[in-house]
Amino acid sequence: MIIVMEQGATEGQVQHVIELVREMGLREHVIVGTERTVVAVLGDDRNKDKDKLENAGGVEKVMPVLAPYKMASKEAKKERSVVPLGGTLGGSAGGKKLALIAGPCSVEDRVKLLEVAHAVKEAGATGLRGGAFKPRTSPYAFQGMGEKGLEILAEARAQTGLAVVTEVMSIDQVDLVCRYADVLQVGARNMQNFNLLWAVGETRKPVLLKRGISATLEEFMLAAEYIMSRGNSQVILCERGIRTFETHCRNTLPLATVPEVRRISHLPIIVDPSQGTGHAHLVPDMCKAAVACGADGLIIECHSDPEHALTDGAQSITPQVLKNLYASLKKIAAAVDREI
Ligand code: PEP
Ligand code: MN
Repeated sequence: MIIVMEQGATEGQVQHVIELVREMGLREHVIVGTERTVVAVLGDDRNKDKDKLENAGGVEKVMPVLAPYKMASKEAKKERSVVPLGGTLGGSAGGKKLALIAGPCSVEDRVKLLEVAHAVKEAGATGLRGGAFKPRTSPYAFQGMGEKGLEILAEARAQTGLAVVTEVMSIDQVDLVCRYADVLQVGARNMQNFNLLWAVGETRKPVLLKRGISATLEEFMLAAEYIMSRGNSQVILCERGIRTFETHCRNTLPLATVPEVRRISHLPIIVDPSQGTGHAHLVPDMCKAAVACGADGLIIECHSDPEHALTDGAQSITPQVLKNLYASLKKIAAAVDREI
């Protein structure tokens, strides 16, 4: 359930509500909005005495949550959440301004990474992507540079101010990746790695949560809820395509996810048209479509020499294509009352 406090409810009244919640054997998460404070009650609250809470001072109403996720739900928070990306360029996801995160699929080499970082910044990005730990289908494929890759990403941030977005694949990598990253990416293959979701939920870093390849929207939202239930509300959702019977694309990119997430949740939702299509020639148009339908940002694979990329070259656009795309996105963003 969700306890909506009256406008102007005092801190003492909120504290008293929290005590009542804890006495019921439940936990709370307090969301302070611009207009009012809401206390989301965590745990199985069926058969609990809601009247006690309803009668407490400063409480306006107690609402059952219809969605199985609470903290991620619009019912818990009406205003959209804005998640700052970090870095020094002021990028964020969820506000009027769109997040533009670009960079190679994986960090391959120091000089090449630094070069592409400067290029994506010049093309308009405020975030730099690049995997140091790569989830690969084959155990014989390039697995990423590990900590060396993280050091290179941090050097790129120092030179450009771009926020570093990079994947954490397991619990034992969380501390290490936190030392270098601004945003922790939880990849599609790990969307239901519940222990990892809890572990990133314990951190206070923004988490970019990718939709699993066969996850329903509800499962996706519940994965976000796992992270939030550990106290980390800085979650950015990412639609990256799902597996269907279709073979012309690597994945099928369901853009209807974007308006639907905006309807049911306050969390920002960005789109990854690179994993979403698998083909560089489809990426610019899908970026435009994503912005047109309300995406809060884009994460795009961008490589200076895609033909020789160690991973995902076929779906990587060049910095020049990104630069041209940025000019089109500006117009589309303006048409839907956004900025980039
Ligand atoms: C990636 O971003 O390169 C990646 C592996 O993403 P996903 O988890 O969406 O497959
Ligand atoms: Mn990739």
